Amino acid sequence: MHTVQKSGQAVVGKLRTEQLPEFADAHTHLDLLKDDVLLKESISRGVGTIITCGVDYQTSIKAMALSDYSVIFPEVGLDPENALLSGNDIDAVCELARKNSARIVGIGEIGLDFKKAVSEEDREKQREAFKSMIELGRELDKPLTVHSRNSMKEVLRILESSGAKRVQLHYFEGDKDDARTAAELGYYISVPPLESGRRAAAIKDFPLGLLMAETDTPVVGKAPYYVEVSVQMVANVKGIDYYKAAEVLTANTKRFFRIHAGGMASSESNIRV
Ligand SMILES: [Zn+2]
Repeated sequence: MHTVQKSGQAVVGKLRTEQLPEFADAHTHLDLLKDDVLLKESISRGVGTIITCGVDYQTSIKAMALSDYSVIFPEVGLDPENALLSGNDIDAVCELARKNSARIVGIGEIGLDFKKAVSEEDREKQREAFKSMIELGRELDKPLTVHSRNSMKEVLRILESSGAKRVQLHYFEGDKDDARTAAELGYYISVPPLESGRRAAAIKDFPLGLLMAETDTPVVGKAPYYVEVSVQMVANVKGIDYYKAAEVLTANTKRFFRIHAGGMASSESNIRV
């Protein structure tokens, strides 16, 4: 009886692994999870790649500390909300990224958030931080994870005029025209697990090869496995099979962040602060 049960479980286990697509979550803040229960559940559900971001100096250090370089990979960045807070030094974040360049997969998150910027002075502060982070990406040859809120057109203008090439427009807020501009520039769009008719229309004709799936955990999705919802939405909009969508979006994410089989050889040395 005991043996039968065991072999039955083994078969189920085998089928599960063979049938589960491999997912990649292209944008999270794992430092905001209170424990690793949801993270473990996500990995058991097939999430094999997770990008976790910093939003300032301290959270960038946390992102690196949380990374295992086989499933979880970190980015360092100063986001527009934190760019407004005194005590957040652009140079310190740049220096942190330079010192740890071999262990980070990108600069993020960065961008403009005009909902948070209440004055022209605020907007100027955000632009200064954003441009410095773009320059840092160029210097270190890293891709950029870009946030925009009420600022899509300007974000695209600044990225284009800065000559940024490897760009992830995370939680894409643009319309069809913005998506067309992004496609012309070769920028990627990552899709959150949140239903939006506007976003669906925007990505309808956007190249599948430039799409990624994200959760923005725990801000939008509760855990990286919510990426299943993002993948399903892309599959629906594009009229393709769910498994095919998972396969393509995962491959896109790994290509974008240059994550190769075997991960990164950087977890050996200590984080340099
Ligand atoms: Zn985010």
